Amino acid sequence: MPIWYSEQQNENLLLSCRIRQTLHVEKTPFQDLAVVDTVQFGRMLVLDGVVQTAIADEFAYHEMLAHVPLNAHPAPRRVLIIGGGDGGLMREVVKHKAVERATLCEIDERVVEVSKQYLPELAVGFEHPKAEVFIGDGIRYVSERKDTFDVILCDSTDPIGPSVGLFSREFYQAVYEALRPDGIFVAQTESPYFHTGMFARILNDLRGIFPVARGYWTLVPSYPSAAWSFSLGSKKYDPLAVEVEQIPDLGTRYYTPEIHKAAFALPRFVLNEIEEQAKKGA
Ligand code: SAM
Repeated sequence: MPIWYSEQQNENLLLSCRIRQTLHVEKTPFQDLAVVDTVQFGRMLVLDGVVQTAIADEFAYHEMLAHVPLNAHPAPRRVLIIGGGDGGLMREVVKHKAVERATLCEIDERVVEVSKQYLPELAVGFEHPKAEVFIGDGIRYVSERKDTFDVILCDSTDPIGPSVGLFSREFYQAVYEALRPDGIFVAQTESPYFHTGMFARILNDLRGIFPVARGYWTLVPSYPSAAWSFSLGSKKYDPLAVEVEQIPDLGTRYYTPEIHKAAFALPRFVLNEIEEQAKKGA
């Protein structure tokens, strides 16, 4: 008799995956944590019932969150990751020769430990000599540092619980101050279909803080709507100004120099929402 795991994506929508087995379940001090082995997507990390990352398609998300900003910055020596406790983003960041130190600030130590046990393909990132892990709240960590990082990447859960503040204008202002004068920030900013308003609001927030602010997106089939957005704020470099020929081959499975640019082409309905909100906010 098949067993199914269902993620309630909103009050009207479930994503159900047939599972081979449930590998781990626990309640951490911050969230319900589970690892299930699904037929379609392989092993999957689930927090508070929400899919975080799955072996079958995590690369599309982690590559796009890492390589777009890191290839847009000429010398990303100091990188900060907020969240990212599964290690997949760290794995991609440390592929860049220019990176001297990559710090990951994750609020829940159990996510790191369980990922090391059940998701070694992602947690391998933690073994790199350039990688360091700090257990704590990313909001506080950023607010205590000024003029420190070349790139800051926010790989948080959805805006519920401890990550709500990571989607606020105040946090983006603190990130601006924690970045060096030519720093770049990127955050995962949910589905452009199901969270169009939030994506647009965040882009307008970033436009009010950074001289360069752009949205881009990728495809992650295990995520709600499969389309997934990122919001970028840059104090100097424009990711669209990158010479495609200059982009190194990092052995990626999704990211390509052409996708680096094409990903910034947003659908008309998203552009309309951004404009609408900008007019309201003006
Ligand atoms: N790729 C996933 C996504 O797009 O939804 C995110 C994966 S990663 C597991 C998300 C991590 O953010 C979780 O491990 C969670 O504990 C962490 N997190 C949430 N709020 C945080 C905060 N305020 N500071 C640091 N880490 C936080």
